[in-house]
Amino acid sequence: MGPSGPEQRLPRRSRSGGEWRSTCEMTTQNARELTEESVEARLAELLGQERFTPPAEFSDDAEISDPQLRARAAADPVAYWAEQASGLRWSTPWERVLDDDDAPFFRWFEGGRINVSDNCLDRHVEAGLGDRVAYHWHGEEGETRDITYAELLDRTARFAGALKELGVGQGDVVGIYLPMIPEVVVAMLACTRIGAVHNVVFGGFSAGSVAERMEVSGAKVLVTTDGARRKGKTAPVKPEVDRTMGQLAPLEKIVVVRNTGIDVPMTEGRDVWFDEVVAAAEPAAPEPMDAEAPLFILYSSGSTAKPKGIQHTTGGYLTGVSTTHRQVFDLKADDVYFCSADVGWITGHSYIVYGPLANGVTSVMYEGAPDYPHKGIWWQLIEQRKVTKFYTAPTAIRACMKWGVEHVAPHDLSSLKLLGSVGEPINPKAWLWYWHVIGGENCPVVDTWWQTETGAIVITTLPGIDAAKPGSAGTPLPGYEVQVLDPETGEQVTEGEGLLAIPRPWPSMLRTLYQDPDRYRSTYWNRFGESTYFVGDSARIDGDGYIWVIGRVDDVINVSGHRLSTAEVESAIVAHPQVAESAVVAKADDLTGQAIVAYVTLQGGTDPSDAVVAEINAAVADRIGKLARPKRIVFTQDLPKTRSGKIMRRLLRDIAEGRDLGDTTTLADPTVVDTLKDRWDAGA
Ligand code: ATP
Ligand code: MG
Repeated sequence: MGPSGPEQRLPRRSRSGGEWRSTCEMTTQNARELTEESVEARLAELLGQERFTPPAEFSDDAEISDPQLRARAAADPVAYWAEQASGLRWSTPWERVLDDDDAPFFRWFEGGRINVSDNCLDRHVEAGLGDRVAYHWHGEEGETRDITYAELLDRTARFAGALKELGVGQGDVVGIYLPMIPEVVVAMLACTRIGAVHNVVFGGFSAGSVAERMEVSGAKVLVTTDGARRKGKTAPVKPEVDRTMGQLAPLEKIVVVRNTGIDVPMTEGRDVWFDEVVAAAEPAAPEPMDAEAPLFILYSSGSTAKPKGIQHTTGGYLTGVSTTHRQVFDLKADDVYFCSADVGWITGHSYIVYGPLANGVTSVMYEGAPDYPHKGIWWQLIEQRKVTKFYTAPTAIRACMKWGVEHVAPHDLSSLKLLGSVGEPINPKAWLWYWHVIGGENCPVVDTWWQTETGAIVITTLPGIDAAKPGSAGTPLPGYEVQVLDPETGEQVTEGEGLLAIPRPWPSMLRTLYQDPDRYRSTYWNRFGESTYFVGDSARIDGDGYIWVIGRVDDVINVSGHRLSTAEVESAIVAHPQVAESAVVAKADDLTGQAIVAYVTLQGGTDPSDAVVAEINAAVADRIGKLARPKRIVFTQDLPKTRSGKIMRRLLRDIAEGRDLGDTTTLADPTVVDTLKDRWDAGA
């Protein structure tokens, strides 16, 4: 496995270039024989199948086909990562691969200099790939724009030049608060080009939470938009930004992308239009950055605690995301890749922007919500763009299950070759639905476990060689070591349950929490010492070394001395055909220490028959045991979720234990908790 850049791996394809152009393609209808009954019957058949080996056709042509790769990497992980890093273009080679003298403040590729935008853009254009489409962008009203690598480079270099003219230099923080439009990628890459540190805030957050993040990160410039579209409505953004951001002292300039064209106030001397500064700017050259120069700050989703400002650096991060993207998604020259995340999350950073661009791949980028303009929009895009690799989250898969196969059936999804999942444990029923309904039982499903902190995928199955077990993420990728440790003794568990830990540094790991090295130490490096990263998830490891993530450490429930996993109880509940989704939490109980409370959404309605309640209880008793039966089940229309789609179990615990609700700023829909509180109080 010699070092090779993507230009060697991905042969040239020609696409017509030119201006960002609009296209309108017809969708061919190619109905599949899918009905709720046929799917339910098939899933029942598959439910007992423990292993799913990769289809032979897939394995024969896989990017990683050497079953010994893990063992070879494990023999010398530092050398392995150095080999991966040498596939990138460095302006100065590193002197030392890993510096672990000051653990837990690890440093990778010390002495090396590299520029991220150079690797994502210039390198490909110089290799003759300028005409390749980087993004097929689709707007929510059906508009499309194709952006080639050459065009993306041109705009990035110009916007980087504009930022410099606005006074941004190396190490300065630039806030980015934009919807899913191509300019968000331009803004991120432009920062990396001149060594500015971006802090992207998800476009769905309120301007108030943006202001808070801009303040704590001392952002000098904010890149935002006039307005954003969401499900057919236009929301003004700039006026909101003005209202909340006006008083921030360090914020010198606001760059506004003309997106919806609505009239917005501009403050003389502070606010500038993106298109005007881009048109006027001299393109900036990529600046060679220290491998350890900060690349970005990103706040974690806040499902367990107040969001943490996670800081990543340049060389190691790019090495991690480019390597894992290529291996896990089995990249090929003619791939069309579609990740449904938002760029405002780590999944968007690593697997919409940096991984795909570093590998020179063509992606689909969708502006809208998964159910707008209709609930089959993703499948329509996959058919239209002949998407080969698709990456989404279990919560989205469960939503699609709830909406019904009639939204999938009309679409020809035969271009798909691989499916990915990320964000939380995927329950076997959802895994099987994804495999059968979306993948046509032809596509390996990779369940990828990782965190904002890890920067890149850590645990999954290598799609060409590993069998998948629904519900298990798989085993660590080459170059990583992951252990399950006994919570009491810290001893390694070879088969059984414990706490997930990473006993060796890896290139794309977080380097610190922004301006809070003490919280960095205490959050991750206290539990097992300064060289073993404490993940914060509990997991089970089976006899094949497969890891089954159970959930957050806080999510394990202790009923009468029995440790039960919330994920397992939830899995038993959602196996009921009428249940769409469920979240299980612990409530303090005089008798049993903790008792189980289940919040359940049903397919259609919130008022179950007594029979359904009895069936749910019976299913839990049958699969796990009588003591896992919920003490109380609350039926609800919706569960409180973060904007990235994760269930906020800490709020559900607050409701169950009658506490005031903690930080709710990262909730997608704050009204959901109020309704739930009412239902709880009403004894519903
Ligand atoms: P915070 O740390 O602020 O509470 P968060 O942990 O939700 O937020 P992320 O970094 O986005 O923020 O999420 C990482 C977590 O998501 C992991 O620690 C794990 O609990 C869960 N997770 C991600 N992918 C998977 C997966 N494939 N299987 C199981 N769990 C997963
Ligand atoms: Mg976390």
